[in-house]
Amino acid sequence: MMLPRKHSAEGTTIFTTMSALAQQHNAINLSQGFPDFSIDERLSELVFEATNNGFNQYAPMPGLPILREAIAKDFAKRYNIEVNPDTEVTVTPGATYAIYAAFTSILQAGDEVIVLEPAYDSYIPNIETNGAKAVVVSLTAPSFTVDWNKVNHAITARTKAIIVNTPHNPTGAVWTKEDWDKLADLVRDTEIFILSDEVYEQLIFDGKQHYTVLQHEELRKRSFALYSFGKVFHNTGWKIGYCISSPELTQAFRRIHQFLCFSVNTPAQYALASYMSQGQLPVVSSMMQQKRDFFLHLLKETDFFIHQPACGSYFQTVSYASVSDKPDFEFAQWLTKEYGVATIPISAFYSNKKDDKLIRFCFAKKEETIKQAFEKLARLKPMAAL
Ligand code: PMP
Ligand code: GLN
Repeated sequence: MMLPRKHSAEGTTIFTTMSALAQQHNAINLSQGFPDFSIDERLSELVFEATNNGFNQYAPMPGLPILREAIAKDFAKRYNIEVNPDTEVTVTPGATYAIYAAFTSILQAGDEVIVLEPAYDSYIPNIETNGAKAVVVSLTAPSFTVDWNKVNHAITARTKAIIVNTPHNPTGAVWTKEDWDKLADLVRDTEIFILSDEVYEQLIFDGKQHYTVLQHEELRKRSFALYSFGKVFHNTGWKIGYCISSPELTQAFRRIHQFLCFSVNTPAQYALASYMSQGQLPVVSSMMQQKRDFFLHLLKETDFFIHQPACGSYFQTVSYASVSDKPDFEFAQWLTKEYGVATIPISAFYSNKKDDKLIRFCFAKKEETIKQAFEKLARLKPMAAL
């Protein structure tokens, strides 16, 4: 039978590939982005509390009201913005799903979507599965800032949306308020939607601030802002996220969502809502910044090189150009097999598999894990010594 090809991505995702390789070779897994430390015990207890209290049936389609209210309060507190929990928040099974549902709610065959690369690997397959075309614009290395002239040139009459991501996976770059203003200038007289992937909003370092698209009055009306609890409460396996958008866009989003999964795991929603409503929530940025600094401190002793420390997210992009001239995927596989440390090759974030001899480390790990990884990497010699 002929199976239709819905998108252009080949094989399994790089995250699956590298995590499997790490497991196979018993390597320290600094590839796929997930913490290796426990979640708050209270959060685990609340899941049991939920099931014991009978929260075991379908949740309402947009999400449990108590969770949507907790999200709205959280945005009022952290960003001083008003979000209507009934008409503007939809709880989803993770942000990957929310991105797909947002695309599906607006795209038609023949539309174009601008994607800034390097980019998270689900964007382009999501766009193509909807019959639309990804128009790629490269971020400017080594700072991975946006060249707004290039974005301007990529806009055509068919451009339906632009997807942006700050703090950025894989580079750790963070948008300034001026970036949002520039984007607003470009889309002002158009019907272009914005998908704003802000899953790392609470992982931001060195006193920098996250500006959400929701703070930008002009852009907010045309934007889907997408979030993931996994990055905040260290429970990536729960796969719970949410979309915040205007009432009109939320209606469009829910038209898709209600027939895609209808509703999201009830006990987990209950636990998250109770956890968020009880007392002080942990500040994740400072804890993650310490991990970044510890990682960078140990990295200095190696022949790896960084162009700039990650300003946000839990990833550090690193050049291995003085260690090896292998292509990055080959290098990442070799490092996993021969040195016992798994990373992600940055070419995986480019549709043309551009290879700049860069790999991504995830530093959302216990200090002892990071230390063990560098004990293994200490055996690496610079290329000149080989
Ligand atoms: N966007 C980016 C940039 C990510 O790194 C991730 C992490 N998986 C997601 C979206 C998806 O988050 P989730 O695990 O909630 O689907
Ligand atoms: N967001 C995670 C990362 O970039 C991976 C998620 C996934 O495995 N799809 O590593």
